[in-house]
Amino acid sequence: MDPIQALLGSPTGRTIARGIGVVPPPTLRRYEPGQPLLTGPAVLGAAPGGVLIEQVRAVLTDAGAEVLDAAPDPDRRIGALVFDATGITDPSDLVALRDFFSPALRGLADGGRVLVLGTPPESVPGGAGAGAVAPGTATPGGAGTGDTAPGATAPGGDGRVAHAVAQRALEGFTRSLAKELRGGATAQLVLVAPGADDRLASTVRFLASARSAFVDGQVVRVTGGPDGPTDAVDWSRPLAGRVVVVTGAARGIGAAMVATLAADGAHVIGVDIAGLADDLQEVTTGTGGSHLVVDVTALDAAARIARAVADGPGRLHGIVHNAGITRDKKLVNLDRSRWNQVMAVNLVAPMRITRELVADGTLGEGGRVLGISSVSGIAGNLGQTNYGASKAGIIGLVDALAPELAPRGITVNAIAPGLIETQMTQTLPLTIREGGRRLSSLKQGGLPEDIAQTASWLLWPASLGVTGNVVRVCGQALIGA
Ligand code: NAD
Repeated sequence: MDPIQALLGSPTGRTIARGIGVVPPPTLRRYEPGQPLLTGPAVLGAAPGGVLIEQVRAVLTDAGAEVLDAAPDPDRRIGALVFDATGITDPSDLVALRDFFSPALRGLADGGRVLVLGTPPESVPGGAGAGAVAPGTATPGGAGTGDTAPGATAPGGDGRVAHAVAQRALEGFTRSLAKELRGGATAQLVLVAPGADDRLASTVRFLASARSAFVDGQVVRVTGGPDGPTDAVDWSRPLAGRVVVVTGAARGIGAAMVATLAADGAHVIGVDIAGLADDLQEVTTGTGGSHLVVDVTALDAAARIARAVADGPGRLHGIVHNAGITRDKKLVNLDRSRWNQVMAVNLVAPMRITRELVADGTLGEGGRVLGISSVSGIAGNLGQTNYGASKAGIIGLVDALAPELAPRGITVNAIAPGLIETQMTQTLPLTIREGGRRLSSLKQGGLPEDIAQTASWLLWPASLGVTGNVVRVCGQALIGA
């Protein structure tokens, strides 16, 4: 904890901070086993023609949440506001969002959740249907007035375009709303491809729960595929019986992943370099998992991981390419060695290890590949041409591999962390660190467990529809937004 965190963490410090106009960061509600999904009831609404509302109702009810179709008495705080916008086929219908959210927002609890559900703009059906629904009436649970903006779609006009435009607009709405929420509340948009309704549960549960504490203003795509989920899920141990490799597991975010994934039921094989072997052993001891000292840049790294799986637990479910390094210098001063080291660990190793584990069948049907990118890979960062390139490359890996491996039932996603409080970020000058915290909607840095919880969700067998996503875990940092 640095001096600024210590100050803002004490009651006196918070009072002083308020006095000088600095808003202390909200305390985020974080996941604990057995806690209720929400802190109050979920209020559902839908634009006419919405196709997901009943599915979401079933998911939330199954998760033990109280689900209402209208805002409760003002003395009860709302745990979540969920709006099915899939019925919106014309920009003039978008006012349904205002009609639902505007009157209800003041009742949202601290740490509350806003979820907007839509259709990926690129998958809206061609021509038919658009403009067919009377705009402006949000039901049920909404407060639609019926007064409408003039329709943008003339009869016989290009309905597909209007439909795609209206669905794309949901992104700007949700990201803006996320910036208006207070008290650690968050807002996300979930785009569900036609036919993927039965794959929603893991994403709705994650985003509604305290597991997603530092995820804010994100767009998650859920896609369909030939095989739907078959097994009943034990949501208290959603990784039960699965084997997951985490590289860079000896400390920081990787160590948090070992603890979180193990708590969610996984056997975790932690990987790290020889210099941190003792730390690695300490992290994995007591989790029921195992450890493997291997440098991910070694040419036989994949083979050694495959052997550890074969000699140990048997079958591999997923790999998290978390090992990463920085060797910061402005490009004008950057030698080849610093460039090559960063590329080798952060980008070449994840590519090569994934390729080899898939090729030799260690990672097969139902497998999960998770890269760790960075907001620096999206926005760029001074002194980080090498690191930014490597982390943008991880996004390229997701884009290229997700469609390639989808037919094999293997998902490929990445997390782009913002400022996370670890040894890596403790090296930043205090003012830059505090500036980074303040530039997020949640006004703070995240914790390693925030990345770990997001990783767990992307690894869950139930997340089979979540592929090709880069999820920022950054408290909606302004950088790169
Ligand atoms: P960290 O330095 O605390 O931990 C990184 C781990 O990777 C260390 O245990 C290290 O020994 C291991 N590692 C490095 N090279 C390795 C190699 N060749 N083979 C095996 N293991 C190796 O860093 P962290 O903050 O926990 O970061 C974890 C990941 O998250 C990294 O990929 C990092 O780039 C990314 N990230 C972190 C932040 C942040 O704010 N901390 C932000 C964006 C992205």
